[in-house]
Amino acid sequence: MKGRIHSFESCGTVDGPGIRCVVFFQGCLLRCRYCHNPDTWDLLGGQEMDSDEIVKKVRRFKSYFHNNGGITLSGGEPLLQPDFAFAILQQCKKEGIHTAVDTSGCIDVGALEKILPFTDLLLLDVKAVDDSLYHWLTGGKAETFQMAVDYIRQQKTPLWLRYVVLPGMNDSPEYRYRLEKLINSLGDQVKKVELLPYHTMGVHKWKKLGLVYPLNNLKPATASTIANF
Ligand code: SF4
Repeated sequence: MKGRIHSFESCGTVDGPGIRCVVFFQGCLLRCRYCHNPDTWDLLGGQEMDSDEIVKKVRRFKSYFHNNGGITLSGGEPLLQPDFAFAILQQCKKEGIHTAVDTSGCIDVGALEKILPFTDLLLLDVKAVDDSLYHWLTGGKAETFQMAVDYIRQQKTPLWLRYVVLPGMNDSPEYRYRLEKLINSLGDQVKKVELLPYHTMGVHKWKKLGLVYPLNNLKPATASTIANF
């Protein structure tokens, strides 16, 4: 099964537990204002690869995975290529490799139906907990995200939730309360909540692509912003 990938990282340590091979898929339909990988947006960019080729690469690193490492599909949005993701995940599961998928959740439920049975852990990005802020920040619909969350809840897939803290934008007590409500609604499915500090490390990529970075006046989140959230 062929698909388009942006890049491959052989020893990632932040996208899931343990040491991981991270496959960054090409293509995303959202346009998050703080995106640090706008070079993954173009659906026709990156390079074409075969799922067998990817699994072969991952297999070579199996001895580094120990108990909890494995493969993570990230992006871009990996679930825009559900058949390709499915082919990789299914093969990895067959070989006893731990599988994780990092998604915005702003995707068709059909893609989740396909991949969740072969996904040990879902890294789910909560972009915003307010509908209009969600749309403003990402260009996507909060309703699509909500439908995905409802399906994930039914499937009881283990989750790491990720929330990028944007100072003065989504870190108010009201938003914190709503985030807690969402976390509680997912019960013990939630294995971890990661508050990720907003940073500006991807700004140069916007410039390189001839794009205007839209959050120019926003300061990065400090350790104390995160601690006080
Ligand atoms: S979902 Fe990820 S890749 Fe897509 S625009 Fe948002 S931050 Fe960028």
